[in-house]
Formats: sequence, structure tokens, C-alpha cells
Amino acid sequence: MPKLQSLIDGYRRFRTGPYQEQRLRFDRLAQGQSPKVMVIACSDSRVDPSRVFDTEPGEMFVMRNIANLVPPIRAIEGQSSVAAGLEYAILVLKVHYIVVFGHARCGGIKAALSPKFGTAAPGEGLYIDRWMEMIEPARRQVLSACALSPDVDAERALEQSGIRLSLDNLRSYPFVVNAEKAGAVKLVGAIFDIADGCLKLLDSATGQFVPVTVELDG
Ligand SMILES: [Zn+2]
Repeated sequence: MPKLQSLIDGYRRFRTGPYQEQRLRFDRLAQGQSPKVMVIACSDSRVDPSRVFDTEPGEMFVMRNIANLVPPIRAIEGQSSVAAGLEYAILVLKVHYIVVFGHARCGGIKAALSPKFGTAAPGEGLYIDRWMEMIEPARRQVLSACALSPDVDAERALEQSGIRLSLDNLRSYPFVVNAEKAGAVKLVGAIFDIADGCLKLLDSATGQFVPVTVELDG
């Protein structure tokens, strides 16, 4: 099992390296967490929010799923990791920000644009199809825009629209809206492209994603 061995090797490096070097931090974190940022990110292995935002353990409450989606409250039945995570972030942690953190070249978004499972059975794509159905309103909008203008890149457009949709869906939860209206929490849309390292933030006034400026050497 070479893959598992590489994880065990990594653990040993962590245990003798960062864990030793940051004993004070980990001792403090052992008493409890108080992150002020919740991040809703894609499960994609290439886009780790703690790397992109260069944060340390204890700084971000992270929830990851396929395509960084938030279901609307009307779709919540029974057990929901997203709804439970939102409640925990707002009611217990009292986070100041909820960041919907999307990314370019998202496999979930690509799959939503060209659904290939159809009437798949469980274990053959049914659950991916059901999850990505959530993005259908945004998909319809993007496909209409593409029909009007062939220059529109459907994948890039849907990656951004999916973030806008998740922000809208966040506002379907009364306790999120109440916290936002009280000024206790701010909702943020962000998208990262691993190809060029560019992070863009959603400008709520214009509805456009704007690159974060960075001073780069050379
Ligand atoms: Zn993704």
C-alpha cells in the first residue's frame, strides 16, 4: 500500500516537525477552537483552502463537498452536513465570515454541464447527479448566456455562477440572514485558479469577480 505508507511517512514528518515546533499553538488548541472564518470549499485535492490562504490550524472552520455547494434550506431533510455546519459556525463559533471558496477547472461543475450518468443507479453516479442538480438554475442561466454569446466559457461562467447560487442559498437560512442583518457575519464569494494562482473576490456591488492584487517579484 504505497499510498497509505506515504500518509504514514507524512504523519511522522508532521509529528517530529511542525507539531513539535508549534507545541504552544497545539496546547492552546487542545483547549478549544475559536475560528472566525468558515470556508465552504470543494473537495478537489488540488485546492486546499489552508494552503491558498496560508492559515494555521485553528484559524478556519472548513467544510468541503463536491463543487463547494450550499443547498437551499427547502432541500434540507433529515441529516445535512452543510446545515449542521452552518448552525455550528453561526451559533457556536460565531464566525465573522462565511467564504464560499470555488475554484477553476472544477470536476463537479464540468460534470453538471455535461451530465453523463442519466438515470444511473446508486454507486454508478446517482448521488453525484442528485447533488449537482442543485446547480440547475445557474446552469440554465449560463447556457442561455452561451447561446447569446459564443465567447462565453461555460465552465468558467458556471464556476462563478455556482458561487453566486450558493451565496443566495446561504441566505435561505433564517439564522444566517439574521446574523448577516445584525452585522455579525459577512458572506464572501471567492474563486481560485491553480493554473495562474489568481484569487478573485466577488464584488457584491457589481456582481463581478475581481482579482486580488499581489506584489510579485520579477
Ligand atoms: Zn471542484
